[in-house]
Amino acid sequence: MIEKVLIANRGEIALRIQRACRALGIKTVAVHSEADNDAKYVRLADESVCIGPPQATLSYLNIPAVISAAEVTDAVAIHPGYGFLSENADFAERVEQSGFIFIGPRPATIRLMGDKISAIEAMKKAGVPTVPGSDGPLDEDERRTLKLAHEIGYPVIIKAAGGGGGKGMRVVHTEAALLNAVNMTRSEAGAAFGNDTVYMEKFLDNPRHVEFQVLADEHGNAIHLGERDCSLQRRHQKVVEEAPAPGISEKLRTKIGERCAEACRKIGYRGAGTFEFLYQDNEFYFIEMNTRVQVEHPVTEMITGVDIVREQLLIASGEKLSYKQRDIEIRGHAMECRINAEDPEKFLPSPGRITQYHQPGGPGVRVDSHIYNNYMIPPYYDSMIAKLIVHGDTREIAMARMRIALSEMFIDGIKTNIPLQEKIMADSAFQAGGVNIHYLEKKLGL
Ligand code: ADP
Repeated sequence: MIEKVLIANRGEIALRIQRACRALGIKTVAVHSEADNDAKYVRLADESVCIGPPQATLSYLNIPAVISAAEVTDAVAIHPGYGFLSENADFAERVEQSGFIFIGPRPATIRLMGDKISAIEAMKKAGVPTVPGSDGPLDEDERRTLKLAHEIGYPVIIKAAGGGGGKGMRVVHTEAALLNAVNMTRSEAGAAFGNDTVYMEKFLDNPRHVEFQVLADEHGNAIHLGERDCSLQRRHQKVVEEAPAPGISEKLRTKIGERCAEACRKIGYRGAGTFEFLYQDNEFYFIEMNTRVQVEHPVTEMITGVDIVREQLLIASGEKLSYKQRDIEIRGHAMECRINAEDPEKFLPSPGRITQYHQPGGPGVRVDSHIYNNYMIPPYYDSMIAKLIVHGDTREIAMARMRIALSEMFIDGIKTNIPLQEKIMADSAFQAGGVNIHYLEKKLGL
């Protein structure tokens, strides 16, 4: 077993990883910026190293600083969490070249999945259903591009191969707008991602976002843990997640889940990962793979009983998966509300001091958060400060628990999106289940 892990992240996920390490008797090193000196997980870590000033580019994204911290503390492995360096293949490579274990897939896998075109190609080969599209990059041949769009049928979406975070995409409704849209996406992608390769997909008009969680070890074993529905989004940012996805049959879950697990075996995937799909009219369409632990992993943990971060640590230690597919049973329903330090109507970040905090509790309630009374939320990072997760035997029970938990959760001194989450929980279409990815923005009148 790995003896000491350096956690190259901050906030709730740093604490989450630390807890998993401690439960396995693994020592932890917290690296942090000057803005996070007082963080709870920094105090609780066996060792801590300040790796730079508040700006993420100078600290949490500073590869040499992270590696040096691992060297001076004799860490054995590095867990990147999500965001920051977690899907940076160059970082993973540097970690391995420096003699540490990267807790995640091989650098080559991260690179393969980081390019959406190569990811789609690999998935298609492995039998995972993808969106009808250009099957590769668009070239300079305008007639070919026009013909492709005609065959796929409008509307189409032009996407950057190196895109991410909902950027580098353009929807095209008419032939007249196509070539200009391709050129604009190309030049934006070149400027933003240093890669001007673009491709074309059919634009699905009312899909849901449904994703599958997988785990794979280095011995060729791979399993899926079912799916999550993350359709409630604002500006491509997930707001509420739940598992299982409403209305997905056991048969369809098994079919798509097995394809994902099989794809992992085929590409030699290692660690935890997520296959993101758009889901419309009973069909799944792969859009991308995330090669890291996701923010919303707890809803899967709640319905399967599998500790995903623990499995990541065991896999990185070279062990076999603790579960076979037949051990995985889905029990009840789980939901997660992301609690952000932001104005619930204007969505402007609201950092500052938390003057009073009351954490909700009760049966089936879990709070993943690093905040506490008098905690100062720094203005430099993502506004998510907590995840409120509930579980119940049915979706209705889970929702009722969420409503109560939200009403108990009291955070003073800053603004939060708790009122927005309460509004979502009271919404009849959400309560019915299965709203699409545009629903929240429409409801908010955006
Ligand atoms: P990113 O890596 O930037 O998140 P994705 O490929 O995951 O990009 O797409 C982000 C979002 O864009 C999706 O969740 C969906 O809302 C929308 N989207 C992407 N492709 C399509 C498509 N073919 N049809 C409809 N919407 C799409």
